[in-house]
Amino acid sequence: MTTPSFNPPVRTLMGPGPSDVHPRILEALSRPTIGHLDPVFVDMMEQTKGLLQYVFQTENPLTMPVSAPGSAGMETCFVNLVEPGDKVIVCQNGVFGGRMKENVERCGGVPVMVEDEWGKSVDLGKVEAALETNSDAKILAFVHAETSTGARSDAKELVELAHRHDCLTIVDAVTSLGGSELKVDDWGIDTIYSGTQKCLSCTPGIAPISFNERALDKVRNRQSKVQSWFLDLNLVMGYWGSGQKRAYHHTAPVNALYGLHESLCILQAEGIESAWQRHNKMHTALKAGLEAMGLSFIVDESHRLPQLNAVSIPEGVDDAMVRSRLLNEYNLEIGAGLGALAGKVWRIGLMGHSARAENILLCMGALEAVLSEMNAPINTGVALAAMQQVLSSEK
Ligand SMILES: *Cc1c(COP(=O)(O)O)cnc(C)c1O
Repeated sequence: MTTPSFNPPVRTLMGPGPSDVHPRILEALSRPTIGHLDPVFVDMMEQTKGLLQYVFQTENPLTMPVSAPGSAGMETCFVNLVEPGDKVIVCQNGVFGGRMKENVERCGGVPVMVEDEWGKSVDLGKVEAALETNSDAKILAFVHAETSTGARSDAKELVELAHRHDCLTIVDAVTSLGGSELKVDDWGIDTIYSGTQKCLSCTPGIAPISFNERALDKVRNRQSKVQSWFLDLNLVMGYWGSGQKRAYHHTAPVNALYGLHESLCILQAEGIESAWQRHNKMHTALKAGLEAMGLSFIVDESHRLPQLNAVSIPEGVDDAMVRSRLLNEYNLEIGAGLGALAGKVWRIGLMGHSARAENILLCMGALEAVLSEMNAPINTGVALAAMQQVLSSEK
C-alpha cells in the first residue's frame, strides 16, 4: 500500500493565525530552490532585510528573519538580552506574557510580573510603579497586540517609561506587524519580534526581528555566552549581517524566504499605512455586522485590535459545535478562546490577506446561518445591511 499525497481542503482562515496566504505567495514558494549562499539568493536576502525595515518602520541594520516561527523570535530577544541574574519586568495581560516569563526564567533572569486582566491593555501606572520599585531592572517586556484577547497596548508610552528608567525593551509584535500602526524607530523600540503567518499573510515558520544599537551593545558585551547556539545573534550576524562575507551558519529555509519576500513586496506595493487602514475598515464593517447580530466585544473600543476580534459566545450556544460546523459546512476557520477565555469567546481574525470584504461577508453569512439553525439568541437578517453601509463608505 502506498500513501497518497496530502491534499488539504481550501479553507478561509479567520482565526488567530495562520491567515489566508495570498496566491502570489504560494506561487513564489514553488519557484526553484537554489543554494543559500548563491549570490542571487544573497541579493534576495538583502532585499528582504530592506523590506522588513520598511514594514517595521526602522533603519536598524540588524533587521532580519529568524529561520523559525514567532516563538523563536521571542526566544531570540530573550536569550540574547537576558543574562543570568538580570531583572526583567514582564507585562502579562493574556497568554503570551506568560511565555515571556518562562523565557526570562530559562535564561536565568528574574522576572517581575505586572499583571492585568485578560482583555485589558497593559496598565501604564502599574508598569511605572514596578520600574520605580525595581530600579535595578534591566529590561521591560510586553506584548503589543495580545492575540489571546484582541487588546492593544500602548507601545510608544511603555517604551518611553522603560527608557526613563534605563531599561531596554522587548516588544512582541507578532500580531501587530502589518495590521496596525507600529513604528519601531519613532517609538524607540530596542528589540522586536514578529511572525509571518499573521498580518503578513505568509506561511508560518519565519520570525522577523529587529534590534537597535543599544540592544546590540548589550548583546556584544555579555559576560556569559548566549545559552542557545542557534539563536545567538553574535553568530547569526555572520550569516545575515551586512558588509561582511557571508559564512555558513545554518541552511536558510530557501523557499520559505521566497514566500516572505513576496509577501513583503505585496505589502510594500499596497503601502504600510494603507494596510493599517484596510484592517481598520474591515474591522469596522465586521463589528457593525456582529453588533447588529447582537454579539458583543470583550475588549473596550479604545484599545481594540482591528485584526483580532474577540466576541462573547451567546448564552447557551455550543462553542465547539459552531466552530466545527463553520469548518465542515463552510470551510471557514474562526478561533476558539485560549486559557482564561476558553469556551467564552470566539476570536475572529482579520489578518493580512484575510482582511477582505469577501471574507467578512462569508464569515457573517455562515455564522448567522449556523447560529439561527441552532436557535441561538441572535438578531437575524440585519448584519449584512450593517456591514454594507461601512463597506460602501469612503474611508
Ligand atoms: C502567534 C503568536 C506568537 C507565537 O508565534 P508562533 O509563530 O506561533 O510561534 C507569539 N506572540 C503572539 C502575540 C502571537 O500572536
